Amino acid sequence: MESTVFALSTPVGGAIAIMRISGANARPILEKLFTGRIEHRRAGFGRIADGEGETVDTCTAVFFEAPHSYTGEDMAEISVHGSYAVVRRLAELIGQTGLARPAEPGEFTKRAYLNGKMDLAESEAVMDLIASTAERQRRAAARQLEGRLSAVIGSLYERVKGVLAETAAFVDDDTDEIDFDVNEAINEIISVKGDISSLIESGLKARVLREGVRTAIIGSPNVGKSSLLNALIKRERAIVTEIPGTTRDTVEEAVSIEGLPVVFIDTAGIRETDDAVERMGIERALKERHDADVVLLLIDGSRATLPEDEELIASADARKTLAVITKSDLPAVLAPDAGVSFRGLPAVKVSALTGEGLTELRKRIASMAAPGELEPEVTNVRHIRALEQAKSALEAACTGLSAGTPDTAVFELREAMTGLASITGREDAAEDLVNTIFSSFCIGK
Ligand code: GDP
Repeated sequence: MESTVFALSTPVGGAIAIMRISGANARPILEKLFTGRIEHRRAGFGRIADGEGETVDTCTAVFFEAPHSYTGEDMAEISVHGSYAVVRRLAELIGQTGLARPAEPGEFTKRAYLNGKMDLAESEAVMDLIASTAERQRRAAARQLEGRLSAVIGSLYERVKGVLAETAAFVDDDTDEIDFDVNEAINEIISVKGDISSLIESGLKARVLREGVRTAIIGSPNVGKSSLLNALIKRERAIVTEIPGTTRDTVEEAVSIEGLPVVFIDTAGIRETDDAVERMGIERALKERHDADVVLLLIDGSRATLPEDEELIASADARKTLAVITKSDLPAVLAPDAGVSFRGLPAVKVSALTGEGLTELRKRIASMAAPGELEPEVTNVRHIRALEQAKSALEAACTGLSAGTPDTAVFELREAMTGLASITGREDAAEDLVNTIFSSFCIGK
């Protein structure tokens, strides 16, 4: 039998801390330490008392009887006051009963998976939900936790299984009695492949949800890069200075903008220089410009453009660059044409000092990074890989069928099923396949 485990499920230092215990000994432990009532799904109120009967804390405890709990095992959740001293003493007492050991990371959710409470994709969604910082990340994880992805994958799996059963029956048939329409099978595979491609595509778009929208802030020295970054993140993170060329390395910060996680990368000012260290910073800035999802090209609106500004404008990638005309609180020397574009680039006018234009800038960053609604079905890298594996197996299966080698197709279709099954971890593809193949055989064979 699995051992009983316990762990603190909340950070320490809040008003309340929740200690979770899962396993067959959850109830005996509660009986030993907790003075209140223990009843399925009811909160009991009482005290945690040590061996001498001394009160450690007053608390509530909820008991969940297997299988009606998160893990599917007997579980207890004890809510005590959230101080280090209370939590440490409670953990000590649970350990001293000898009835449980500390849980490993993710062990409660792993047990939930092993006990069939949720599939792999749903367990991963729990982790994503805990880690989500921005609204759209949370929404994507919550949808996955509801089993939306699992349902989509399940239906694709069934469709591949259907084609496989027919193809396998045809391959195994030595009596020529089976009617097998190759074109129909190929069409069905192509259609499943199309659905998988769309899932992969939505997953690739969702990269910005996982890793954040990489937004590089570039421009010549003193245009106001550090000041803008500080204004956007509202914290004094980057060092603001009046000496040109002092932001020598890149500084990264992530914030939530319009529900999207955005990582700002403040780069070294770009200009001609003989200083080796500064040049390294500039090279890095150019690389960041290349890798970024969105580039904010800053141009000082209070002075005429310098040759380095001109070079940056000329070499800008218009698809992902937004010209940001800075220092709008000062008398304007440059102005975005009609307020929305500057030298062929979309543009906004901002002042880090007064905050003018910052709301507009945030909106523009979000819409450049995620045009339209971003409601991806797939967000997890492991799932994207598995889908790619399934897709290429389906391609090979099509080739096999067209080339008149249906036995290759059988092998590849099976690979595709394994790839899909690995996302949810529910079906044992190999065993499931055997059942399907045999059930599609005619009676008496
Ligand atoms: P960086 O070298 O591009 O990072 O530029 P900094 O952010 O260090 O700013 C350079 C100088 O411009 C500093 O003296 C800032 O105080 C000033 N500055 C930056 N943003 C603004 C702004 O919006 N308005 C005004 N008036 N001055 C600004």
